[in-house]
Amino acid sequence: MARIPLPVLPDATPAAQRRSGMARPTREADAAGKRPEWLKVRLSLNRDFFDLRSLVHESGLNTVCESASCPNIGECWSNRSLTFMILGNVCTRSCGFCDVQTGRPGSVDLDEPRRVAEALSTLDLNYTVITSVDRDDLPDGGAFIWAETIRQIRKACPGLQIEVLTPDFKGELEHVDTVVHAGPDVFAHNIETVDRLHRVVRPQARYERTLAVLRRARELGAVTKSGIMLGLGETDDEVLETLRDLADAGVEIVNIGQYMRPSINHLPVTRWVRPEAFDALRRAGMEMGFVHVESGPLVRSSYRADKQARMAAERRRETGHA
Ligand code: SF4
Repeated sequence: MARIPLPVLPDATPAAQRRSGMARPTREADAAGKRPEWLKVRLSLNRDFFDLRSLVHESGLNTVCESASCPNIGECWSNRSLTFMILGNVCTRSCGFCDVQTGRPGSVDLDEPRRVAEALSTLDLNYTVITSVDRDDLPDGGAFIWAETIRQIRKACPGLQIEVLTPDFKGELEHVDTVVHAGPDVFAHNIETVDRLHRVVRPQARYERTLAVLRRARELGAVTKSGIMLGLGETDDEVLETLRDLADAGVEIVNIGQYMRPSINHLPVTRWVRPEAFDALRRAGMEMGFVHVESGPLVRSSYRADKQARMAAERRRETGHA
């Protein structure tokens, strides 16, 4: 396989990360310097953006678009594309890259599945992504609410395709089963980073556990998807190894994007990966057998997720992929 021209990292160890970036004073001034041109997002907001924002705020529901300060919110919401975040807006985990609030979540809102479905029914969409905070405080990790949300959406929005981006349920695979049996069109769970960096980037998660969750969903017949961020200290070889592990776990759709530090309290960016390097990774991923690889600086799991799923379905048809 051709060597992938990713920039060489000066020193990607966690200690170097801490030395190099955590004390930097501004949002843009990361270990890797100012954001390059290709990451500057032009904000052009249309009426749909403001309509969607009103709907979200009036409904009292949460979106990961806002809670995680996603840079694509202008584009996505202007295209009437959003990702509702269920099970509250406080997460029991403390991943070093994520802007969602960490703490002790409130009680579960049993009416949330119905309210999500009702909000979606007013939007006239073909495709939606649902995600959640981690709820390690709940005995089932929130699996019941997940399944109920899928069922309620199916009832209120026939024809709407549903992608779920779930937590790992602490590796308790019966909860994965509960979600998959509710029948989402795509089951996504992100690996986020390479094995070596999990301790720093996702301290409460495990690399192997994420692979086990994805493998289980695939065994149950789900269309599976995962994602990885670049710029957290990984090496090129580790990225390729992670992609191979995802392919071995039966993952069909992969997205690869640039990590952007939400604040100085988050892990620093160790490198800005150039667009052509993302292209090379997409080609390498396709050679490994993924049905679809979405790879680019601004790619996020739910970014143009409808297109990712459509392209995957087309390729599956072309290749006779089971
Ligand atoms: S990429 Fe995903 S999280 Fe970001 S704004 Fe778009 S739908 Fe929301």
